[in-house]
Amino acid sequence: MDNPDGQTDKNFRTILNTTVVRLEPEPKPGQVTSATHVVVKHGDKEFKIACKQAIVCAGTVESGAILLRSVGGDTRKFGDGFSEIFGHVTDHRSFGVAMPFFCRNMAERKTIGGIKVTSPMKFNITRNGEVVDDSVSLCVVALDTISFLPRDDLTGGDLPVGLVSWILPTTLSPRNSIELNDKNEPRISVDWADDPYLEEKKEVMRDFAVEAMNKVVKVLGIRWAELKGDDYYPILRDIEAADIVLRPTGPGTWAHEQGSIPMPNRNLEGGVVDEHLRMKYGWNNISVCDLSVFPYSAASNPTLTLAALALRLSDELVPEPNYRPVTVYNVCGQDVDVVVDASKRSTPPFGPQRLTLQAGKNHTWKITQQEAILIFSCQHAMSYDLQFLVPGGKNLIIDQPPAPPLDAQCSCSGVEVSGPQTLQDRISLEAE
Ligand SMILES: Cc1cc2nc3c(=O)[nH]c(=O)nc-3n(C[C@H](O)[C@H](O)[C@H](O)COP(=O)(O)OP(=O)(O)OC[C@H]3O[C@@H](n4cnc5c(N)ncnc54)[C@H](O)[C@@H]3O)c2cc1C
Repeated sequence: MDNPDGQTDKNFRTILNTTVVRLEPEPKPGQVTSATHVVVKHGDKEFKIACKQAIVCAGTVESGAILLRSVGGDTRKFGDGFSEIFGHVTDHRSFGVAMPFFCRNMAERKTIGGIKVTSPMKFNITRNGEVVDDSVSLCVVALDTISFLPRDDLTGGDLPVGLVSWILPTTLSPRNSIELNDKNEPRISVDWADDPYLEEKKEVMRDFAVEAMNKVVKVLGIRWAELKGDDYYPILRDIEAADIVLRPTGPGTWAHEQGSIPMPNRNLEGGVVDEHLRMKYGWNNISVCDLSVFPYSAASNPTLTLAALALRLSDELVPEPNYRPVTVYNVCGQDVDVVVDASKRSTPPFGPQRLTLQAGKNHTWKITQQEAILIFSCQHAMSYDLQFLVPGGKNLIIDQPPAPPLDAQCSCSGVEVSGPQTLQDRISLEAE
């Protein structure tokens, strides 16, 4: 790393403003090896960073591009089956109805303000009396607020606009793909997977919009408006299905592109990464953690789920040590200095390494394995008691730490003091 004083450590460097280009070595079909290097680009220069374990997390499109660049765009090098499940990037399928409205008295607009209600909405699509699709969409009813999408439908001139919109769960479409152009940049093609019940779902959405919009009229006394010529006029009758224009939103509207490097589906089938987000193809020491691992697009915002996946992955890659408390009680009637050992650098005790524990007081450390404590008298630091701490245990200091050897005591009370008096003195001396 570049030190503040300008010196460079030969073993450690920070390279800012770089992008990851690819992983090395290039996988061979049918083989799974370890990636040894992450190749990054800074300006026109490439650097190779040695890697033991790496997590690809450049977002759905760029993570896919990193895998593609690692095989020169030829996905067959990852082995059989990879090409069929890689790169099917998708975004939510969603629909919205937007309509301007008049408040009875436009001065009320400020009083009413923006309103938004969000709720899951279940489709119960039946055929021949059987439920064939009971998927859940996310439905939003928003009045006079642009807090929700689709943003480009909110045309109402100076009028406030009401919106009813839905995000539908969306499976990955095998027609979708990520490819590299001649500059090694990703190009995606996105379409929606076929939904055999889409027309029925549109009917459900339309019916709901009619009901919701008429309810709003009754409750808030507003009037929906329609465009006639250059002007808007209030609709003085109930909203009907014919008034509802259900507009699909285009891919990218949500900025929730996902699914290019998916984990297995709920039946644990398929997956470029396994259910623990580790690559199943190419390399055995690479994980992926961004929206690309979503096996389908759920009807909700994805980021919290992604954060949960990231926490789970970090726990799996670096297991959390099992810290447990241990409490030390000082009942020996005199203040003591306690020094806690740290037998492993990777899991040092939580709590101070050194502490003055007053008579009658206690202190709790958290430890992962047996540790030792040295107990010194606060008056002299020539000798100590030793105790072992066990995670989850309790320790009592019942005796005063042993008195220092006689000659040390003599020199302490004499004019020429040769040994350290207190633990602090001793630490300072040792530091020198
Ligand atoms: C306007 C907007 C509003 C949103 N609102 C919401 C919301 O309300 N709720 C919600 O759940 N989600 C929301 N999202 C979506 C949310 O931002 C994404 O779900 C989330 O950021 C995706 O995380 P990710 O890790 O997959 O990708 P990203 O967040 O895009 O992270 C990828 C990172 O990798 C870096 N990178 C890319 N390529 C390379 C490379 N080659 N080398 C090195 N680094 C690279 C990028 O700079 C970026 O920092 C919103 C998105 C947008 C754009």
